[in-house]
Amino acid sequence: MQCWDPRMEFLPREDLERLQYRLLKLLVCRLYHFSPFYHHRMESARVHPDDINTLDDVNKLPFMYKSDLRDSYPDGIFTATTEDLVRYHVSSGTTGKPTVVGYTAADLHNWTDSLARGLSSCGLGRGDVVQVCYGYGLFTGGLGLHYGAERIGAAVIPASVGNTERQVEMMQDLKATAIACTPSYLLHIGEVAERMGISIKNDTSLRVGILGAEPWSERMRTRVQDWLGIKAYDIYGTSELSGPMFSECSAQEGFHVWGDLALVEVLDRESGEPLGPGEEGEMVVTMLQKEALPMIRYRIGDITSMETDVCPCGRTHPRVRRVTGRVDDMLIIRGINVFPSQVEYTLMTIPEVGRHFQIVVDRKGSLDDMLVRVEVSPEGISDRIQDLIKVRNTVEQKLKNTLNVTVEVELVEPGSLPRFEGKSKRVIDRRNL
Ligand SMILES: [Zn+2]
Repeated sequence: MQCWDPRMEFLPREDLERLQYRLLKLLVCRLYHFSPFYHHRMESARVHPDDINTLDDVNKLPFMYKSDLRDSYPDGIFTATTEDLVRYHVSSGTTGKPTVVGYTAADLHNWTDSLARGLSSCGLGRGDVVQVCYGYGLFTGGLGLHYGAERIGAAVIPASVGNTERQVEMMQDLKATAIACTPSYLLHIGEVAERMGISIKNDTSLRVGILGAEPWSERMRTRVQDWLGIKAYDIYGTSELSGPMFSECSAQEGFHVWGDLALVEVLDRESGEPLGPGEEGEMVVTMLQKEALPMIRYRIGDITSMETDVCPCGRTHPRVRRVTGRVDDMLIIRGINVFPSQVEYTLMTIPEVGRHFQIVVDRKGSLDDMLVRVEVSPEGISDRIQDLIKVRNTVEQKLKNTLNVTVEVELVEPGSLPRFEGKSKRVIDRRNL
């Protein structure tokens, strides 16, 4: 079995928790005494470093939000001086100012190391050729995976995004064994390859996909794996945590959150109370070792659940299940919470439906109206109108059963919906236009 840091990855749970407590205490002391922002936050919450005496005491600390980063734009809460910074990444916010993340050399080392552990857990190492098709630049995906793959001794193709036919040629000519990109871009690459007469499954060396930066479903994994003949692994992260940080292992049962680098809680969204293993709530992360931009109890806004038992792979670090949605992505349709990931999951259970869909939400009078456009798969194509009506009715019924809300379905021709090179934009909400 490939393993980057066996001593740390297989550290007995008790030792890991002791280490986490020490790191947390150190972090809280440092920030309380040396950072005006965190000092003020802790004072307002009436918490002092002396109150942190067990790992569970983390829940005495106040939360942080994305707005804290925006309000302190560009570097108001950094805890490292410019002399100690070695890199910036900037993420464009959909609203308001972007957020800036700074890194010291140690921050970059830890980030890269977390990816080295993750990529090794997916069976990659020396001799592998990793085609990195995340955007290079201010976005963290490209450079993050690039250095992570280099650290484990793999050869990297820094392909970035776009020029998809060339991506397929490079994959074939340079014998790429792994690809790192968004799930929607991999679908696009697969389709372009087919148009070029190339089967990724039969005509390339590709065997691993490291897919992330947007939520995707377990059903989508099955389809991608069967279609392209690869193992598809989920990877997770966001620039505030450093970038892509945590990936699945060979067990494909949730991604390992490296406990020496991050402390994860899953909380009830309303009450903020901690939830037990397997219970779904909002993920909150404390970065235990970040120097330039420490994050304490950061509410990322992703919905998931946590597993605390030892993974089938033997690693002791907690696992977080596939993110099922973002608090921000949640649509409220006639008072009912709907996540686009639920729509994807349901559609992928229907063979007559292709891999692409689009959700359009509008308001008709005072009522919310949700339309789901879905591409028909080759199995679903028919000249007979009755067949198509039957497929549409099936899709409508299944979506209604899952979402508890009536949805209108429109079947469209294969290839007619937009394709995405980076993160997909599958939801058009016209209610606020
Ligand atoms: Zn594992």
